[in-house]
Amino acid sequence: MKKGALIVISGPSGTGKGTICSLLCRQNPNMHCSISLTTRFPRKGESDGINYHFLTEAKFKTLIKQGSLLEWAKVYGHYYGTLQQQVEEKRVQGRDVILEIDTQGAKQVRSKMKDAALIFLLPPSMDELWARIQGRGTDSPAAIKERFAAAYREIQEIWKYDYVVTNENVSETVRKVEAIILADKCRVGRNKKILCSLKEGEK
Ligand code: ADP
Ligand code: 5GP
Repeated sequence: MKKGALIVISGPSGTGKGTICSLLCRQNPNMHCSISLTTRFPRKGESDGINYHFLTEAKFKTLIKQGSLLEWAKVYGHYYGTLQQQVEEKRVQGRDVILEIDTQGAKQVRSKMKDAALIFLLPPSMDELWARIQGRGTDSPAAIKERFAAAYREIQEIWKYDYVVTNENVSETVRKVEAIILADKCRVGRNKKILCSLKEGEK
């Protein structure tokens, strides 16, 4: 079986990463949205094992020491990370794994996993980003300001990514990300097996 793709989706808080990733995984049973680890507290409506695996800082640091994390970062004062084994298990089963992670984590994935495709999601405008962060209603006024200020810094990292998608309309954005994933599977480097099996001069 062909190994599944590894897709990274980053972008400023409030751009719509969570919305797009959950739709992608709901509409495409072959796609798996990786469930990150975090040391932050669950927000209203979030549950352990669904949105994140919530754990203590001590446990998180043990996992770093054990080398269990594919990538990790401290974002807005809390630790976030991805378990390497979870990603590998799904990919070996042929499933495409989507990591919704920040730019620091994406940098680590880029250096460790040469076959990963990195997508940066942009808001249509900064005014719309502000409206989306506020409209989500999950963050305090201070957290909203912090996240909005960080957006300008994060956008500077866009040059390290392979693809950019502006999240104007949800279904159009999902369609574009699906197209990127499909194209990624057609990369020459991901099809070495078939290319090697077609030997010259057999007939
Ligand atoms: P992120 O995961 O990037 O922080 P969310 O997925 O939580 O962002 O989206 C932030 C807010 O913006 C949510 O209220 C969501 O419903 C809304 N949203 C997401 N995509 C769009 C879109 N294309 N148009 C309008 N609102 C959107
Ligand atoms: P939130 O607290 O709003 O759920 O997420 C805050 C930020 O952490 C977002 O930018 C999100 O992409 C990032 N994040 C979530 N999970 C991970 C992860 O596993 N690794 C890294 N590096 N960042 C993550």
